[in-house]
Amino acid sequence: MLHKKSHIERDAEKFVFKADNSSTPIFGSIESDVLLPREKIGQKMMDPRIAYQLVADEMMHDGNPRYNLCTFVQTYMEEEARKIMLDSMATNAIDKAEYPQTTEVEKRCVNIIANLWNADPNEDYMGTSTVGSSEACMLGGMAMKFRWRKRAQELGIDITAKKPNLVVSSGYQVVWEKFCVYWDIELREVHLSDFNNLTLDPKKAIELCDDYTIGIVPIMGITYTGGFDDIIALDKLLSEYNQHAKLSVPIHVDAASGGLYLPFMQPDLAWDFRLKNVVSISTSGHKYGLIYPGIGWVLWRDKEFLPEELVFKVAYLGDFEPTFQINFSRSGSQIWAQYYCFVRWGFEGYRAVHAKTRDVGLFLARGIKSLGLFDMINEGQNIPIVCWSLSQKAQQERQWDLYDLAQHLRFNGWQVPAYPLPANFQEVSVMRVVVRADQSMEQMSLFLKDIKQAIQELDSACTTRPKRATQQGKIVPMGYTH
Ligand SMILES: *Cc1c(COP(=O)(O)O)cnc(C)c1O
Repeated sequence: MLHKKSHIERDAEKFVFKADNSSTPIFGSIESDVLLPREKIGQKMMDPRIAYQLVADEMMHDGNPRYNLCTFVQTYMEEEARKIMLDSMATNAIDKAEYPQTTEVEKRCVNIIANLWNADPNEDYMGTSTVGSSEACMLGGMAMKFRWRKRAQELGIDITAKKPNLVVSSGYQVVWEKFCVYWDIELREVHLSDFNNLTLDPKKAIELCDDYTIGIVPIMGITYTGGFDDIIALDKLLSEYNQHAKLSVPIHVDAASGGLYLPFMQPDLAWDFRLKNVVSISTSGHKYGLIYPGIGWVLWRDKEFLPEELVFKVAYLGDFEPTFQINFSRSGSQIWAQYYCFVRWGFEGYRAVHAKTRDVGLFLARGIKSLGLFDMINEGQNIPIVCWSLSQKAQQERQWDLYDLAQHLRFNGWQVPAYPLPANFQEVSVMRVVVRADQSMEQMSLFLKDIKQAIQELDSACTTRPKRATQQGKIVPMGYTH
């Protein structure tokens, strides 16, 4: 008997799906009708248009970098800068012979930075690009360790009796802890003691020094608060110490955020190679150097401070070029971008961008202050970092804290971390905004509007909720250290 087709079967025949082709709409394609691989690579190939759309759509689930108020890292570059980066993406910065011009441009950047940091023309500075300040700090630290060991041995100090140590304030960025773990160094923390001045106490730093101290690391742009350590006072006290010490102690400045800000904004402030005991400085090109991540720089005031064992030689134009980095292969694009920015902005351009950024920071600080609930810890007067805590009075009157506020601001897309201060002040939680070049007065006024609204909502929502018993066990957002 003849089977009579159901209307469903007849419908199905009308819509016989063929394989995707170039006119198939992306979101009507068979290839898009899948979950993307999570654990195991897929078997089949995928059309690049479709693959691009599906993978790019995954990015939507990240926060919007422009609304990320916690990061120091550049979130905007001009069209031409992006083009330079794309053009140079395929170069390998370590292939000195194959890409001699990348090497040349890196050297030009080192020269420009050495000049911005007032390198002494009578000395022979050395420097290199790195992936970021972390690698730059590691190199600075390694150089201090190797140099300490050599000098200690020459002086007959028993280098096996104790671990070498490094002196830094407890406001240090996590890279210094890593450095000490990786290179087996004792981290000697100078605890912060004055809430009104959360910076390294130079006197206490010197007191921690002995024959096993490889160096002291002051910070220009303290990650937690944006403050500056008093390097002038430290340098002075250290000169006195070094006169009598068996083994002199050098300074490495961690200028991750200040290194490419201060030379333009406070050129008269001596924090760099103008100070005698400063032997090396590191910075992040991707912070106020205005480059997308990741690039950093480290410079030594003279080659004397970069022990030879750390320098390797790679072939370059029939000769050899010294290299001193932890990484081997990496794209030259960040180096080209840094050079492009130096060419494009010049001194005036960097100053103009940073001055506007500072103004936006001061504007934000005034706005936050006027809300009347917060104690200001940094108002953007150093680097454009605005940092505040909830005042004692507000804490007593309110049922919410900064962590609740941070969460509420996420509703509007803002990412602003709340986190506890370092040792001695852990019970104080703060909120911090790192103002960057691409943030405008307009954007900050919208942020202030949203913060006001969030406070109103929290005030009315929290009147019935019991106050949290403790803040212990709060998770520190990863972003706060950047
Ligand atoms: C950001 C930062 C670092 C780490 O720099 P990266 O460029 O992110 O590797 C180190 N020290 C300080 C003070 C910083 O602010």
